[in-house]
Order: sequence, then C-alpha cells, then structure tokens
Amino acid sequence: MAQKKSLMQKAIDAAKKVVAKPITPKKVAKKVVAKKPIAQKKVAKKPGSLKKFNSYTPKTNEKYMGKSQIKHFIKILNDWKLELSNDIDRTVSHMQAELTAYADPNDRASQESDMALELRNRDRERKLIKKIDRTILNIANDEYGYCNGCGEEIGLNRLLARPTATLCIDCKTLDEIRERKMAK
Ligand SMILES: [Zn+2]
Repeated sequence: MAQKKSLMQKAIDAAKKVVAKPITPKKVAKKVVAKKPIAQKKVAKKPGSLKKFNSYTPKTNEKYMGKSQIKHFIKILNDWKLELSNDIDRTVSHMQAELTAYADPNDRASQESDMALELRNRDRERKLIKKIDRTILNIANDEYGYCNGCGEEIGLNRLLARPTATLCIDCKTLDEIRERKMAK
C-alpha cells in the first residue's frame, strides 16, 4: 500500500512538472498547426508540373531493353503509379475535409471551383495510371521500347523522359502534324 502511494505521488509530481513547464507543450502545439497548410499546399501544387524520372546511365555496348534497362523502367513505372495513387487518395480525403470545413457561402463558391479543378486532376491521374498499366503490360509482353508505328527502337533517352511513350520521335512528330491538319 505504501509503495502504491509513493507511485501515485510520483505521478502527481510528474504531472506538476509538466504544468510548471508550459513552454514545451506550447511549442509542440505550434508545430502541429504549422504543418497543416504545408500539406495542403502540396496537394494544390502537384498537378501540371512535368515529372522528372530517375536517371539511368547505360554501360558501353549495353543491350537495348536488356535486363538492366527493363528493371529500371519497371521500377520507374511502379513508383510513379504508387505516387499517383497516393495523390488521388490524398485529394479525396482533402476534399472530404474541405466539404465539412466551410459553412460560409462565399467560401463555398471558391471552394467549389477548387474542387472542380481537383476532380479534373484526379481524372487525369486516373488516365495516367491506366497508361502506366498498359506500359507495364507491354514490358511483360516484351514489346516495350519499340515504336507502335514503325517498329523501330524508341530510344533510351526518349523513354527516360517519357517512360510511357509508344511512338518513336519521328512517328510522334508525324502524328502531331496530322492531328494539326485535322484540327484545321
Ligand atoms: Zn516510329
């Protein structure tokens, strides 16, 4: 019993110490508040920017689309897909939080246009994920890295900049010219 009491006393003393030192918990609370807007900024900043992928330096005389290159692209594509899926999840939870956050009609209006933008981005990201899936399937079928138009190599540099490319630069250029003519 005596031991229990002293334990309780210790707990009380510990609690008193915390109360006597209010600086530490205040600091912690401030930090948590400061973190929130940064996380929200990230969500808004993300879309539109051109993605930069890990670089890859082939060995001299390395086989085009050999094991080492294939391994690199599989990793790039899977990482990219994961990143996009996380973005989508974050957007959804962010929007749900915003929905409940504002009751003011003025806030609502700007919030609705924000949301329309986020929905469009989400749609774009979903399409991109599908494209990545098709690319991964291409790798599995040993068709990755070759042009869908002419069958030539797309080229390592082009693929490193655009891992989901299905056309070589020549066929892509021709395609764009054709598209422009059709639009006229
Ligand atoms: Zn081609």
